[in-house]
Amino acid sequence: MLGLMQDQPLLISSIIRHAARHHASGEVVSKTVEGDIHRTNYAEIEHRARRLAGALARLGIAAGDRVATLAWNGYRHLELYYAVSGTGAICHTINPRLSAEDIGYIVNHAQDAVIFADTTFAPLLAGVAPAIRGSVRAIVFMTARAHMPDIATPEGMDVLCYEDLMDAAEPIAAWPLLDERAAASLCYTSGTTGRPKGVLYSHRSTLLHALASNLKDVFGLGAADRFLPVVPMFHVNAWGSPYSAPMAGASLIMPGRHLDGASLADMMNAERVTCSAGVPTVWLGLLQHLRASGKRLDGVQRLIIGGSACPPMLMRAFGDEYGVRVDHAWGMTEMSPIGTYNMPKSSNADLPADAAFRLREKQGRVMYGVDMRIVDDGGAELSWDGTTSGHLQVRGPNVCSAYLGDEPGSALDAEGWFATGDVATIDGEGYMEITDRSKDVVKSGGEWISTVQLENIAVGHPDVAEAAVIAARHPKWDERPLLIVVARQGCTIDPSALRAYFDGKVAKWWQPDDVVVVDELPHTATGKIQKMALRDKFRDHLAGGS
Ligand code: AMP
Repeated sequence: MLGLMQDQPLLISSIIRHAARHHASGEVVSKTVEGDIHRTNYAEIEHRARRLAGALARLGIAAGDRVATLAWNGYRHLELYYAVSGTGAICHTINPRLSAEDIGYIVNHAQDAVIFADTTFAPLLAGVAPAIRGSVRAIVFMTARAHMPDIATPEGMDVLCYEDLMDAAEPIAAWPLLDERAAASLCYTSGTTGRPKGVLYSHRSTLLHALASNLKDVFGLGAADRFLPVVPMFHVNAWGSPYSAPMAGASLIMPGRHLDGASLADMMNAERVTCSAGVPTVWLGLLQHLRASGKRLDGVQRLIIGGSACPPMLMRAFGDEYGVRVDHAWGMTEMSPIGTYNMPKSSNADLPADAAFRLREKQGRVMYGVDMRIVDDGGAELSWDGTTSGHLQVRGPNVCSAYLGDEPGSALDAEGWFATGDVATIDGEGYMEITDRSKDVVKSGGEWISTVQLENIAVGHPDVAEAAVIAARHPKWDERPLLIVVARQGCTIDPSALRAYFDGKVAKWWQPDDVVVVDELPHTATGKIQKMALRDKFRDHLAGGS
């Protein structure tokens, strides 16, 4: 017997309709590319998104077509999120930090029909245009006529102005009814090996992710919140916040391209931001600015950190010096992206301060809709004792089943688990801690050494700005840890003193065999250290033994 409840599909358009009707005055504040502050609200965003939907139809965009964006966090980008997905087309967000070659590849792979871009990216597009002439028939600059850049494009590729299109279009009367399983948005992983791969989200996965991430122990946004996503809308949908914030009625404060510590602190204080999300390097920049300028954060209660491991000093510094809580979260593009969030349970209430802090360093507990487990090299499930580490696998309705172009289910094992590529422990209460990437872990004489743990210790040294540990070949132990560091400005690093810094912090056999000091470390388009490049360069550094 079927239930007798209303059968309404879970559609992205329902979020903006809800926000416009029930949180009409919820603000969307954007720092524009031109440098001014633009203010609007959810009622206007919904109306303009329907007008943009009319403009998309005039451009010949139909359900299932791919419409790309190359843009910072801002109100027009938000309008595109809703107009494109809301009409059944697929919003393909492109990471401008990818190489021009990778951008050309993914535009052609996705077969994007139109690219909407911030004017900042005109030179990038001019360079890529010849490579994408087969797919893209128009580039639309997200600006008004007065600010249109002058770029040359191949024949058959129009250059259009967003506000001109808006002026010429009629808003659609209502959002169409779609299949909730239809594709809604597309994001390519910035793979460190091989070509980027497309993760294709559905309306249903996006809605379920937004609902779950708004639970109290996850993002838990409310209508009184003013949320500033530093995480970009061009990478995994700014962790889903363009959906979860309007769903909760929280205002969105969009920083545009101004992501340095000073700009963020100013915007947070001027716009009374209560909560924000970003990667560790962003919060490091903010902390350095606050310390140097003597400024405070007036209304910020919580900074969410993820994308790579949260350095413990960051959590302590924001808490102790600024009274701002730092919450640790973990996820990945293939998970929409939130997997875990670290919020204490009532059973953790009586922990001594040090143990409570140590617990908060972990990546956290799964949010509803995500299941996880750890397995050994042979696929056997490992115990949740907080010390045994294994390959982390996940499953759930927000987890990808295959990459774009592949057979559904092809990214999963026989039992439906997706291999995250991370190595982790899980404790008895379900708190997961990432100890490595599967391909980065150091296998020394058959035992695993966590490169993440060694890096965390290294960056705790006052002279170290950034650190990476790689597995270097070793004649006796197969692999041994090699520490590669960048010195803090004005500091010099003594390799043997830095090695001694590990004494008592990890077992003797975990200590790096050597330290190499470099001027800078290579990074991926999403700001992660490119360990592949380091391995290529330093793999044989210990080949003579030590
Ligand atoms: P991406 O798909 O680019 O978002 O990258 C996902 C990967 O980033 C994960 O598989 C992890 O290796 C890493 N990652 C994300 N969040 C964290 C975190 N809080 N701690 C450690 N690693 C993280």
